[in-house]
Amino acid sequence: MSFTVAIDGPAAAGKGTISKGVSAHFGFAHLDTGLLYRAVGRRTLDGMEPVAAAQALAAEELGQGDLRTAEIAQAASKVAVIPKVRSALVDFQRSFATRPGGAVLDGRDIGTVICPEAEVKLFVTASAEVRAERRYLELSANGSDTTRAQVLQDVRERDARDAERSTAPMKPAEDAVLLDTSNLSIEAALAEAIAIVEDAKRKAF
Ligand code: C5P
Repeated sequence: MSFTVAIDGPAAAGKGTISKGVSAHFGFAHLDTGLLYRAVGRRTLDGMEPVAAAQALAAEELGQGDLRTAEIAQAASKVAVIPKVRSALVDFQRSFATRPGGAVLDGRDIGTVICPEAEVKLFVTASAEVRAERRYLELSANGSDTTRAQVLQDVRERDARDAERSTAPMKPAEDAVLLDTSNLSIEAALAEAIAIVEDAKRKAF
């Protein structure tokens, strides 16, 4: 039997850490759907046409090389506005979501478009300043020489592009639980997410 946890929200809100923590706690598989758009974005930086890149995407590419650079993030959010890119990636995500044993998918449109029937929907958010600071610390730790101001500008640009696009814009599903992590430690946010999933599991089984 499948059990899907959809975790959406803007960049650096804590989705990744919460998704990994929830999947580890319950033994569910985890798919970071941002990696799909990043892999397509990387191919376009290499000169490929975005729709062809999305249609030719292979699962193995998600684990190849560093997809978490600032340049690839921007390229990802540009290809993500193209409806045919999004539709080319739907089947892979839906079949992942319904695999037996449970799955956690994190992204921008999981609760609204990819898995509207998910048993749990979380929308994880935090202020742009808090998210930019987290992303800045992460990028600096990985050797990037970016500035706080640059990271805040990137976060705001990407938020605007993700929330304002006409196909599958980033927004909470009507029945999503909002989790604002601005003033929460990651441990507290994860504990809250686990409690919400536990409750839904009790109701589902
Ligand atoms: O989550 P991450 O920062 O890796 O996502 C990179 C970009 O991919 C996002 O800014 C967004 O434009 C796009 N994306 C999306 N839908 C998803 C996941 C990511 O449009 N489900």
